[in-house]
Amino acid sequence: MKKINEYVDEVFGGHDPVLEEVRESIRKNGMPSISVSPSSGRLLTMLVQISGARKILEIGALGGYSGICLARGFGSGGRLTSLELKEEYAELAGRNLERAGFGGQVGYMTGPALESLRELADKGERFDFFFIDADKESYHDYLEACIRIAKPGALIVADNVLARGSVADPDSEQRRYTETMRTFNKKVAAHLRLESTLIPTGDGLTLSRVKG
Ligand code: SAH
Ligand code: MG
Repeated sequence: MKKINEYVDEVFGGHDPVLEEVRESIRKNGMPSISVSPSSGRLLTMLVQISGARKILEIGALGGYSGICLARGFGSGGRLTSLELKEEYAELAGRNLERAGFGGQVGYMTGPALESLRELADKGERFDFFFIDADKESYHDYLEACIRIAKPGALIVADNVLARGSVADPDSEQRRYTETMRTFNKKVAAHLRLESTLIPTGDGLTLSRVKG
């Protein structure tokens, strides 16, 4: 799994000075190195591009790495709303999005994402692409909240669903969120409102389409 990921990132990752600077800024600010992998980032860009999504909601901004990948897919007509618990993380993400040329197309809502999701629902906001990548214990709630504010046919992508491969391997070291992700994946797979699959890129992404 790790070897395959390294291989994919090596061959398809390319040299990306903008994203490398984002990783560096995250390190310098003493924030955790838990941005999506280059291969997952590239897939996010392609999914936004292919789907033609324009209104995107991200849950978990960190330093803006995945935000830039999402924004790269939507061209001049798109808008990213990003939910982040920590003010200082949202500020760094905002600066990085600005530097990448997307300053005018992103807005941050800080505080617990479930509260922001409630606010967005109350305002009648609707989105056609979702990227779930915050605290793993809340993934179930995030999924339901996203479905409530999804346009028909919207895509919902969730990160870290393989928990470093541990969900599939009883012999590997179990992570804090191994069981949480197993339960989440089963729920996604069986959800009546979704058509889904799991792409084993990076730390694993579920990809779901909200039925109309
Ligand atoms: N998507 C980012 C990485 C996100 S890391 C990328 O790939 O570039 C997870 C983020 O979720 C962290 O920034 C953390 O502060 C945030 N987070 C954790 N709990 C949260 C909550 N309850 N509401 C909103 N954000 C939360
Ligand atoms: Mg992640």
